[in-house]
Amino acid sequence: TRLSSSVSPSSSSLTMAQGDEDRVINLDHGDPTMYESYWQKKGDETTVVIPGWQFMSYFSDATRLCWFLEPEFAKQIVRLHNVVGNAVTENRHIVVGTGSTQLFQAALYALSPCAEAEPISVVSAAPYYSSYPLITDCLKSRLYKWAGDARSFRENGPYIELVTSPNNPDGFARRSVVNGSEGILIHDLAYYWPQYTPISSPANYDLMLFTVSKSTGHAGMRIGWALVKDEDVARKMTKYIEINTIGVSKDSQVRAAKILKQLREAVQQSGLFSVSDFPPQLCMFLNRVFEPQPAFAWIKCEGDIEDCESFLRGKKILTRGGKHFGVSPKYVRISMLDRDKNYETFVRRLSTIRS
Ligand code: PMP
Repeated sequence: TRLSSSVSPSSSSLTMAQGDEDRVINLDHGDPTMYESYWQKKGDETTVVIPGWQFMSYFSDATRLCWFLEPEFAKQIVRLHNVVGNAVTENRHIVVGTGSTQLFQAALYALSPCAEAEPISVVSAAPYYSSYPLITDCLKSRLYKWAGDARSFRENGPYIELVTSPNNPDGFARRSVVNGSEGILIHDLAYYWPQYTPISSPANYDLMLFTVSKSTGHAGMRIGWALVKDEDVARKMTKYIEINTIGVSKDSQVRAAKILKQLREAVQQSGLFSVSDFPPQLCMFLNRVFEPQPAFAWIKCEGDIEDCESFLRGKKILTRGGKHFGVSPKYVRISMLDRDKNYETFVRRLSTIRS
């Protein structure tokens, strides 16, 4: 991982950062600023100029199921998945969203049975992505409700299970864990890209979520996409986004298309990816064996420290504690996607901590 490869900072970075020692290092959010220097090197190849008269309409292609999806963006999504081999795109509908966050909500809306008296339970195996419970219960919907850790879920009847693979926060590859027959699955594949994990086979699930935030690092574009097998579900998701935001920024989609195109060309060369501490696996895309390198370090404080987040906050390192992910506060999640400068200060500070 970035962590293990930089545990011994070079002497030059040690001396360079004197006076840096008091600065707060915020590794709570997974803000992907690490990718900035990569795209900086691409220079004008990924610059987009949009004249004032362009993309004024609400519509992109009124003949498509998802009528606010820009055709060029749709084309680049399919081409990128085909090159990387991380998802099946044949016989799938693409629905674009304002980040995969909006698509997650659209999926809940589309998958919830509307004739039930009780809201459908939404579960995910702990530790789960900390936003899932917040998003699910934010509007106290009568359609769906957060029901916590999928591993302890025992109710009969239909439920929605979120499967995040590789997982945020701990980086493990996952499959659904509930044994019920009436489960509806949402696969959040935000990190199923070869910079995080070996691509073992193209994902082939009913509803898959992806985002530029974690693939190219452009979280600020707020663009995600869903690959949806069932036409009716894709239609309902599109309806939700119509009601919620009347579509998705065309400027962002056009910019995303250009970035994805560039990425597809770039990923054809290897050397972009390095190694870490998970068991190695064969990556079908890079055609070599390597170890996953998650976007987050999932760390447990050993010994007497009960609240690892507070402990590290005392060292001016901001992280996200285990309770947000449905587990013990002895755990913290540390973002590995920050700029190198912050990352180096963090590692240096960590290496001086003694219990
Ligand atoms: N799913 C997972 C598992 C994530 O980690 C994140 C970002 N932290 C998201 C979804 C949200 O992505 P977006 O920026 O596309 O809304």
